[in-house]
Amino acid sequence: MILKGKKALVVGVANKRSIAWGIAQSFAREGAELCLTYQNERLEKNVKELAETLPGTRVEACDVMVDGQVGALAGRLKEWGGLDILVHAVAFARTEDLAGDFRNVPLEGWHTALDVSAYSLIALARAMAPLMEGRAGGGSVMSLTFLGAVRAVPNYNIMGVAKAALEASTRYLAADLGPKNIRVNAISAGPVRTLSAAGVTGFARMLEEVENRAPLRRNIDQGQVGDTASFLASDLSRGVTGQVIYVDSGYHIVGI
Ligand code: NAD
Repeated sequence: MILKGKKALVVGVANKRSIAWGIAQSFAREGAELCLTYQNERLEKNVKELAETLPGTRVEACDVMVDGQVGALAGRLKEWGGLDILVHAVAFARTEDLAGDFRNVPLEGWHTALDVSAYSLIALARAMAPLMEGRAGGGSVMSLTFLGAVRAVPNYNIMGVAKAALEASTRYLAADLGPKNIRVNAISAGPVRTLSAAGVTGFARMLEEVENRAPLRRNIDQGQVGDTASFLASDLSRGVTGQVIYVDSGYHIVGI
């Protein structure tokens, strides 16, 4: 129970395949009190049904692109009694920008991917940091990234640029919030079949590639990401900030 007594906000559950759901389950098992959010009415029922399986879990609405919703959420969480952990598992790019030649990405596609997938981490961290200040054990913020941030992965395209921005933002936020004893890290997950992953052309090939070439010769799952998230959320990682931790069966270390 390494998260006993901690309150966690998890943004990014869409359904039972979501990486955020793997994280929420691991947090609950480790004793955290949870607040999940849903992006819109289309996802509300799903998220509420999942939340019911983890007794005591709160559910709130939050579309990170709608003015005022992040601030309103922070207000409700203040009444909840503050926050120790923030998980950002949010990403979106237009399907047409996740295939073909990268050089064809229009400005609108650039804005959509970077605003939703990277800027939202800054907005959430800024709003939630005051709720984390002064907590015993400090605060822990984390987001989800992918190897496409640092390597050119076919079809990942604009999302790779968005993840590069997310990883750089992780370091700047870590520098900013460290003096307040708030740590900021990212988990670089290997490919996992989720709703978002379905939007990346050739995704099945990525799974095959990891299984054939990763040191551990297998793909990862949501539970493995969840358990690393629990480590990052807990006092066990109190000396770790500004890092990108890979949960990818070691795939990123392989050369030829
Ligand atoms: P998912 O589709 O289950 O989750 C993406 C979430 O983003 C959804 O819950 C969606 O509602 C939310 N979202 C999108 N726009 C939003 C907005 N405007 N406001 C609020 N929420 C919004 O897919 P996932 O694969 O679990 O994605 C979670 C995170 O993991 C993403 O950052 C993704 O890039 C990252 N990731 C995924 C993989 C993978 O292979 N699936 C690998 C590495 C990293």
